Amino acid sequence: MSRPLPTPSKISQPFWDSCKAQHMEIQCCDACGVYAFYPVYICPECASRKLSWKPVSGKGTIHTFTVAAKSSFAIEGPLVVALVELEEGAMMVSNIVTNAPERIGIGDPVRLCYEPVSEEITLPMFEPA
Ligand SMILES: [Zn+2]
Repeated sequence: MSRPLPTPSKISQPFWDSCKAQHMEIQCCDACGVYAFYPVYICPECASRKLSWKPVSGKGTIHTFTVAAKSSFAIEGPLVVALVELEEGAMMVSNIVTNAPERIGIGDPVRLCYEPVSEEITLPMFEPA
């Protein structure tokens, strides 16, 4: 089976558009400056409804991860699923692109990369920095 792909919604469309442009943006609260991910209508920190899309640096660290030895998705290499803490403070579940998952560790620096998977969707992923 192929990898199931996300379906952009009204709230997440700007995020997927920015990934397609390979210039990922996430929401930042105008009131308190907290970055939020996944896309939200209300700031998780201060409940403000004023959020703006802002580009991220693409730098992050591995908060935790797991390696799927076998994947039912038709993808190459081991599937590394990680919770990545962006430099901006938001957390993202994503994949680490590597052929050497045994060399990955919690706290390792990673950088954003992109994998176009359909006309609509480019997935944000991370690679060792
Ligand atoms: Zn806020």
